[in-house]
Amino acid sequence: MNVLVTGGAGYIGGTVATLLLQAGHTVVVVDSLIHAKRNEVPAGVEFVDADIADRPRLEALLREQKFDGVLHFAALIEAGDSMRVPEVYFRNNTAATLALLEAMHATGTNNLVFSSTAAVYGEPEAVPIPETARLQPTNPYGESKLLVEYMLRWFNQLHGLRYASLRYFNVAGALPHRGEAHEPETHIIPLILDVALGRREKILIYGDDYDTPDGTCIRDYIHVADLADAHILALDALKRQDRIVCNLGNGQGFSVKEVIEAARKVTGTAIPAEVKPRRAGDPARLVASAEEAHRILGWVPKTPEIDRILESAWQWHQQRYATRG
Ligand code: NAD
Repeated sequence: MNVLVTGGAGYIGGTVATLLLQAGHTVVVVDSLIHAKRNEVPAGVEFVDADIADRPRLEALLREQKFDGVLHFAALIEAGDSMRVPEVYFRNNTAATLALLEAMHATGTNNLVFSSTAAVYGEPEAVPIPETARLQPTNPYGESKLLVEYMLRWFNQLHGLRYASLRYFNVAGALPHRGEAHEPETHIIPLILDVALGRREKILIYGDDYDTPDGTCIRDYIHVADLADAHILALDALKRQDRIVCNLGNGQGFSVKEVIEAARKVTGTAIPAEVKPRRAGDPARLVASAEEAHRILGWVPKTPEIDRILESAWQWHQQRYATRG
């Protein structure tokens, strides 16, 4: 297949692009490098340094080459930051995606896999969360993604766009040579591993008074390689079904304290932690019902265990800083 990957210099897009190349596919990456560096573009892809909001540029690319599918990862991802500058998120995530959709429609390009998020649910009424749950984001980041889901539904209905909207829960873990690094880093596993490496003094736990067994928030962690598998399965499923909406998670939750404890075992280090007040908009529990992904995509995660996810992340994290010195 010839696949267009937006945001392919980032953590997840770059991992999926790498695995697509390894499986023998051809990959073109479009990334504005707003949150990635040039050397993070996977070797072996054709790289287009462009913003997806640049519709003429995208249209020219889509006319030049025929793509079997578009995997759309490009976005700003910080829920907390989106509470400060919502307009940036609506412009970069929602309006820019509209430009991509228009370019696809104008050039007859079909089959889009969209990186949606558990943040579309907001505070769930019950867990595990089915796709039919109430959609009520508690921050502009989640809303910016939900608005894309609404556009996709109309593009499907009125323009025949075939699409899969995959609502990821917490993506983590690494390939041997590619792992999670955001700038700034706000994700819990790389932050914990920074503490294990002595690059940070302690890990901050935001709230230990939630209605959960140990009082800390519970999340569903999914290995990035399993997530990549789901994208390839989604492109295939789009041949049979024109509209797919499903969660990607393991259906199992771990509390912040449990993740820290597991990381202490995996790294053999103390990992000091300090409890801070809750952050606004953090739901107590986000755990996916993954039944739709199993049923529609035939997706079965190969690495659901939190220890193995952490081990892969730890291996990469150590290597990352060892090579940088
Ligand atoms: P990332 O920041 O590592 O990667 C995003 C990439 O998109 C970066 O390389 C950035 O430069 C690029 N980008 C951003 N806006 C762009 C634009 N307008 N045009 C072109 N390139 C642009 O983030 P990630 O963790 O790899 O996340 C990828 C996708 O997965 C995002 O859409 C995110 O919302 C979604 N997601 C991630 C998680 C997670 O746990 N990491 C969970 C749910 C959903």
